[in-house]
Amino acid sequence: MWSRVATVEKLQQALRLIDSYSLVCHEIRRCITLAELRDLTPCTYLPVVADHILAVGWLEKAFEIPTGPTPQEVFAKLTEFARNPWQPFVSAGYHECGICQFGGEKRGTANLFIPYEGKIYVCPELITHYINAHYYSPPVEFCEAVLACPPMQSMAYKRLLVACSGAVLWQTE
Ligand SMILES: [Zn+2]
Repeated sequence: MWSRVATVEKLQQALRLIDSYSLVCHEIRRCITLAELRDLTPCTYLPVVADHILAVGWLEKAFEIPTGPTPQEVFAKLTEFARNPWQPFVSAGYHECGICQFGGEKRGTANLFIPYEGKIYVCPELITHYINAHYYSPPVEFCEAVLACPPMQSMAYKRLLVACSGAVLWQTE
C-alpha cells in the first residue's frame, strides 16, 4: 500500500515536471521563431505558412528595430483594427512586449491581417504599442496596405482577403 502511494506520488511529480518542461520548450520555440521573423518575410509564426503571408512588426530585443516617424493615420487605423480584429485562428496565448526596458508593459493576443495587392501582412496587435512607445517604423508598403484596408468586419474586407488568396488562412485542413 505504502509503495503504491509512493509510486502515485512519484508519477504525479514526474507529470508536473513534464508539464513544466513542455512550457519551457514552448517558450524557447516561440523565442526562436520570433527571433527569425523579419519584416516582409513569410510569417512562420502562424499555423499556415505561405509566400504571400508576410510578417510585419514581430519585434524582439535581439533585433535591430527600424525606428522613425509613422503617419498618424496609419497608427489610428491600426488602433481601430485592434478593437475588433478578424481572427482566423484561436490564439495560442498572449505575447508580451519584448522591447520595453523593464518587463513588458503591454501584452496582446490578437494578430491583424492586412490584405493588399495579392499579399497579406500579419502583425501582432502590439504593433500600436511598438509604434507609439518604441518609435517602431513599419515598412512603407505595409503603411499603404493599412491605409487602403476596409473595416475588418466588413464584406469589403472579406472580399479583399479572398482576392489576396486569403482562403489558405481558413482552409487549414
Ligand atoms: Zn514595450
